[in-house]
Amino acid sequence: MQITRRRLMTTATAALAFGALPRRGWTETRISLGDMEILTLSDGTLSLPADLIFGPMPQDELAPILAGFGIDPAAPLAPPCNITLLRMGDTLALFDAGSGSGFQAGVGRLPDALAAAGIDPLDVTHVIFTHGHPDHLWGALDDFDEPAFANATHMMGQIEFDYWMDGATVDSIGADRASFAVGAKRRLEVLAGDMVLFGDGDVVLPGIRALSSPGHTPGHMCFVLGEGPDAVMILGDAIGNGHIAFARPGWISGSDQDPSLAAQTRLALFDQIVGQNMAVVGFHLPEGGIGRARAMADGFEFLPSL
Ligand SMILES: [Zn+2]
Repeated sequence: MQITRRRLMTTATAALAFGALPRRGWTETRISLGDMEILTLSDGTLSLPADLIFGPMPQDELAPILAGFGIDPAAPLAPPCNITLLRMGDTLALFDAGSGSGFQAGVGRLPDALAAAGIDPLDVTHVIFTHGHPDHLWGALDDFDEPAFANATHMMGQIEFDYWMDGATVDSIGADRASFAVGAKRRLEVLAGDMVLFGDGDVVLPGIRALSSPGHTPGHMCFVLGEGPDAVMILGDAIGNGHIAFARPGWISGSDQDPSLAAQTRLALFDQIVGQNMAVVGFHLPEGGIGRARAMADGFEFLPSL
């Protein structure tokens, strides 16, 4: 085996993870589907102003719902970040790559989580992106701006890739998200040479289909693993939290780039996942992010499978 700088760094990271950090909690939940094993690893916890999500919502109706979840709308939200890892034969695929070290202090833990799970980043065969936001894309490069998963094929929806690679996006996306555009373009330019682009309905890996789910970003993709009653959907941020996105999926959220389209997408996804009782994996859903949705009087409820 060739010893590389990345290998040495990975080893150092692993020693740190085992020596200095608690080992529990990295591998949070898992589910099996035929020859697929799906588990989630934590990249850490973001800190977001609550108003980013709740600002455009009807505040009078919102307040009692948030109270029911124990959420203080005056305090920052702390959404968990769940990276999905798929093992299938010789395939070891990550869905999204986490934040890396350049976004926020509470995230970028995926390398530690992989080390604690005994997974070498060099063994990852595919990195498949739901979308190009920092908490999903930026961890694809290491601190030297080289691919963190150096042997992996990177895959992104064509519309999403084109959007972030477009030099005009930084000017059109709005001041709040301009840094997202700069950061995405810089990283995608490094990965572009061997990036595999796909469209709605394409088979990205055997038994895994891309599902167009725009609104959170222009080219957001979910993924359906398997078929029929055992199918699992990787939601990314198309259903972006375990509270209000479930309780009132039709409400517009400030965290979505096209809020009306995102709400339409959410409602259509709930039709599908509840109608077919599919298991779901959500990037920012609680308790590791694997579970199911159950219909309620005015919306849905997330039932984590622990
Ligand atoms: Zn996200």
